[in-house]
Amino acid sequence: GLVKCGACGGSLYVKSSSRKGERALFYGCMTFHLRGRTACANSLLTPMDRANEEVLSVLEHDVLHPNVTKTVVRKAVDKFRASEREWKERREVLHKQISSIDMELGRLVAAISSGGDIPALVAAVKIANDRRTALSQDLAEVDSQQHSDADYDQLEKELQAYFEASWKTILTRQVGQTRQILRKLLGPDRLPFIPMTNERGSQYEFKGTALIGRLVVGRAKALVSPTGFEPVLLP
Ligand SMILES: [Zn+2]
Repeated sequence: GLVKCGACGGSLYVKSSSRKGERALFYGCMTFHLRGRTACANSLLTPMDRANEEVLSVLEHDVLHPNVTKTVVRKAVDKFRASEREWKERREVLHKQISSIDMELGRLVAAISSGGDIPALVAAVKIANDRRTALSQDLAEVDSQQHSDADYDQLEKELQAYFEASWKTILTRQVGQTRQILRKLLGPDRLPFIPMTNERGSQYEFKGTALIGRLVVGRAKALVSPTGFEPVLLP
């Protein structure tokens, strides 16, 4: 399942009960159900429909709402743009190093043709050539990592469209598709339903970390982490 008991970490099960001829479904802790209070003290049953709706409502308003995802996507893409500037700087450094080696090679060749210490000069040429080869390989590597501003504009558009589509799916409340989205958001984690008792009686609270990055094909690494599902970007 996508949810777990917040007290013991075990699975929740669905209990069916009928009252006055009406069937109702509840979530309860499987550990408590099977092994009793000594294994898990959480005896709380919560109406399944209402719990599901509350989770979906948080996704709709606080996690996948375009106001949230636009900011998350923007911040993620900005990070990529920033790392792109680092690539650019690295590229310039490599170009400078290569041209200074070329100048050194020029001087060595001139020294050889004017009859200097040939074996020493030939050895120096070999060292300079090897270094030039290594630098050229680094440069090819850096070049393969380069993206243009237009690439990033496109990435941002694609990510926003993706999240908007997910949000619209949540709005439909279609069980299969919303489960898929929740599964992607949660990753390997399950959402803990934590039993709480206060003046209004017993109820469940849920807390989770939704990994928006999982929904992002390939490149964006953004995290939305609730309590209150505040959008947070991790490095
Ligand atoms: Zn439990």
